[in-house]
Amino acid sequence: MSSSSSSTENGSVDRIISDFRADFNGDSDPLTHMYEFSRRSLLRRDGFVPSFNCSRRASIDSGTLGIPDVIRQVAEDLKKENESVSSFIKEWIDSSDDPHGIILESSPLTSMSPISSSSNPRSSLSGGTPKTSILLTTLIDWDNDFLAFTGTELITRSIKIFDSWGFFDSSLVLLPELTQESLALSSPPQSVAPLVKQKDKFHAFIKSVSKNYRASNPYHNLHHAHSVLAIVGNMLRNCTPNWFSQLEEFAILTAAICHDVGHRGLNSDYYIKTKHELAIQYNDLSVLENMHCSLSFDLMLRGSNNFSSDWPEDQFSIFRKIFIQSVLSTDMKQHFELTSKLGEIASNTNGGCVIPNLLNAEEKKTVFTSIVHAADLANPTMSTKACYDWAFRVVEEMYAQGKLEEKRGYLVAPFMKHPPTQVNEFAKLQISFVGYIVSPLWKAMAAIWPAALSDKIEQIDKNSKFWEEMRDRSESMMHL
Ligand SMILES: [Zn+2]
Repeated sequence: MSSSSSSTENGSVDRIISDFRADFNGDSDPLTHMYEFSRRSLLRRDGFVPSFNCSRRASIDSGTLGIPDVIRQVAEDLKKENESVSSFIKEWIDSSDDPHGIILESSPLTSMSPISSSSNPRSSLSGGTPKTSILLTTLIDWDNDFLAFTGTELITRSIKIFDSWGFFDSSLVLLPELTQESLALSSPPQSVAPLVKQKDKFHAFIKSVSKNYRASNPYHNLHHAHSVLAIVGNMLRNCTPNWFSQLEEFAILTAAICHDVGHRGLNSDYYIKTKHELAIQYNDLSVLENMHCSLSFDLMLRGSNNFSSDWPEDQFSIFRKIFIQSVLSTDMKQHFELTSKLGEIASNTNGGCVIPNLLNAEEKKTVFTSIVHAADLANPTMSTKACYDWAFRVVEEMYAQGKLEEKRGYLVAPFMKHPPTQVNEFAKLQISFVGYIVSPLWKAMAAIWPAALSDKIEQIDKNSKFWEEMRDRSESMMHL
């Protein structure tokens, strides 16, 4: 398990505390800093833009208040300002059970228990850590050897991710109303209908989607789709816990497993240059991504797969919109614009923290589409062996397309002319891909979520060195 996974799977309070530790550099008064930081964190969870109230900040007497008191005061202040943020207060009050001074202790973040926190929102409702927590943590572990799983295992694991998320079982779900109720302590939790009542149909849908991934594709197969699902799940849990509604998370995760469905091992340019019916149908615009969306909904709306047949119209409409936005964002032609927008968000720091404005629909879209797109480009963040294996498969698939194009008399793109066994070309291609495409995106991601993702940048650098050494070795061999 990576260090980011273990330090962030615990409750949201621990998450904010760990972020605070990462953010606090000792240059300012710790209590004032904590006040501002926790206030921003609370607001961010409910999608509100923070506006700093200097007079309230000045009212804190750092000589008499302990850290839990500051947290409580923040919670009280926010409760007065906006009702919706009170859903989070219970967690803060729970956190005051921790020994005073925990926030400023110098112990390493990794000393925190990943799943035992009493402030875990789910455990506060169900009376203990959900049985699925450890399972989900394992399923979405960044360090899973995704290529080692069999097709059956991939389907089972995909279904288990959705099962253990709580989409089909309301006892696993944190809802603001329930948190509000639990504050009163006198009212038992209300029963709430699960988001998806037709669980069996959703399972059937996932099986249909899985069957529509071609096992013969070296790269765009179910292994890749499942790895994107797991990495997206990891980031939703560790980077954006409770930033999105349950329906939004469901749409993003469903989009992740569907994002390459029906892929035939050929890119959009192939369909455009061959005037294929898909290119004609989608007017050369995001040909593959449009096809993935269209096929997904075609499979979804078939009777035995139609888990949404009992949904209200607006619920389906929100799901469909977020799903489509997520899948279309995986078009590499959107990459630079998306990276640029994410970079703008990342550069907008306040007191060392980046706080995306989730009330702004465009900014919110940038956040969740970046998560899906980055997961789609996550291979260089994985172990060097996994990174190499995935890269080999990408180049193998591209080379096969090049051979097909050559056979059919089309002009072949230079990067499709070399098999991965041509080591020098292989290494140089990876160095360019990581340097110009992958690294800027992931650096923007890590700037927004440093506690969860900074180790991914270290891994990208480590893998880049591997490719450079491979290139240098092959060049020295060539000069012998
Ligand atoms: Zn993909």
